[in-house]
Amino acid sequence: MELYTGTPYWPVKNKLWDYFNPLKENLSVDVVIVGAGITGALVAHEMLRYGIDCCVVDKRTPGLGSSSASTALLQYEIDVPLCRMAEMMPEKDAVLAYRSCLEAIGDLEELLASTGVDGGFLRVPSVQYADSRRALHTIRREYEIRRKHALPVVYFDSDELKRKMRIDARGALVNTVSAQIDTYKAATGLLRHDIERSALRLYSHTEITGRRRQDDGYVLTTSEGYRIDCKRLVIASGFEAGEFLHGRPMELTTTFAIASEPVDPSRLWIGRSLIWQMRDPYLYIRTDGNRIIVGGEDVRTNDSERRRLLLPEKAAVLERKFRRLYPDIPFRREFAWAGTFSTTRDGLPLIGAAERDPHMLFALGYGGNGITFSRIAARILAKKVIGRVDAAAHVFRLDRPSL
Ligand SMILES: Cc1cc2nc3c(=O)[nH]c(=O)nc-3n(C[C@H](O)[C@H](O)[C@H](O)COP(=O)(O)OP(=O)(O)OC[C@H]3O[C@@H](n4cnc5c(N)ncnc54)[C@H](O)[C@@H]3O)c2cc1C
Repeated sequence: MELYTGTPYWPVKNKLWDYFNPLKENLSVDVVIVGAGITGALVAHEMLRYGIDCCVVDKRTPGLGSSSASTALLQYEIDVPLCRMAEMMPEKDAVLAYRSCLEAIGDLEELLASTGVDGGFLRVPSVQYADSRRALHTIRREYEIRRKHALPVVYFDSDELKRKMRIDARGALVNTVSAQIDTYKAATGLLRHDIERSALRLYSHTEITGRRRQDDGYVLTTSEGYRIDCKRLVIASGFEAGEFLHGRPMELTTTFAIASEPVDPSRLWIGRSLIWQMRDPYLYIRTDGNRIIVGGEDVRTNDSERRRLLLPEKAAVLERKFRRLYPDIPFRREFAWAGTFSTTRDGLPLIGAAERDPHMLFALGYGGNGITFSRIAARILAKKVIGRVDAAAHVFRLDRPSL
């Protein structure tokens, strides 16, 4: 599958990791993690911390899946607002999902600091603004429910929003617990760290093409015809996981992003907050250094030819929308790309064992919080392998009614 079209900014910004280590023998290991993106990197790191015998396998060069196309905002807010999520599941579960994301941002910060991996992590405020009456109504409901559960949130009315953020809108939810990251750098940095420090086995350019269930696990076959015997199989293969999700339809969509040339820093907005709309799909903005990154304009197709044709038009729309929000900030587009995307009905990831198969575990962070979901998956699945149950595991399991 073509996971992105155009030139994502991150692999150009970072030095490409020319890792090449295809599997060239049969192997026996307790856990095989399929996918060397941010999810595979985080899951492997957590498993190694618990002393679990594991390896990572990827058909591409590590990090060059969706993780290299991500715009990488880290927010505890999920695409489905808490006030709506609480109508789809018990309110306490929806709150637990939000709290898990909040914790995951702190976990990521700590993990990168403790390993010394530079993943471009930066704490920045978040501003979610309403530019319609309907959105303002949702923002007010959302503010109430988040206050009720002591989740970090402040409300800005239109005057305060104009004064502090120079944004012309009806109101906004603001917090200071958000962050941003460089997903490609974080994923490849963490994999390198674990290869050097924990003897992680990472097999690149090795596709898992077949699998057979046996009594105590799986026998996997690779594209080169080698065999891997394992007790557990972790699917961290991102938007290409359809082949492992039999019977569960996945709607793949496309999301678009652009990055500007560096801008005179004195022209940028205060605090370089993450800025996003209360809308579906939403416009969102962040900075990286002195560049501005804008994303959104999602469409319900994953056809690579169609999105190749759509990219120039969508890039122009994103640029126009940014200019409308900040007419005083000069924006000259330098990068534009489109990436495969998917969400679930309730906005939550798929984490846990396959229905009726405890040997196949999923770490699929579908949605705008894919990266925080990956960190949550790492925690839940590593515990599961050693026979412990995470307190939030039931919220993300694959057989939950809200799906
Ligand atoms: C444009 C865009 C913007 C985004 N913005 C955000 C954001 O602001 N915040 C956020 O949290 N998330 C965001 N996301 C989502 C986030 O980027 C993803 O959730 C995350 O990168 C997925 O990482 P992953 O490791 O699961 O998948 P990937 O990075 O795609 O890695 C999966 C790997 O599995 C490998 N693989 C697949 N099948 C096989 C197989 N059979 N055998 C061997 N290997 C296989 C692939 O080669 C791939 O390298 C965004 C995504 C996009 C595209």
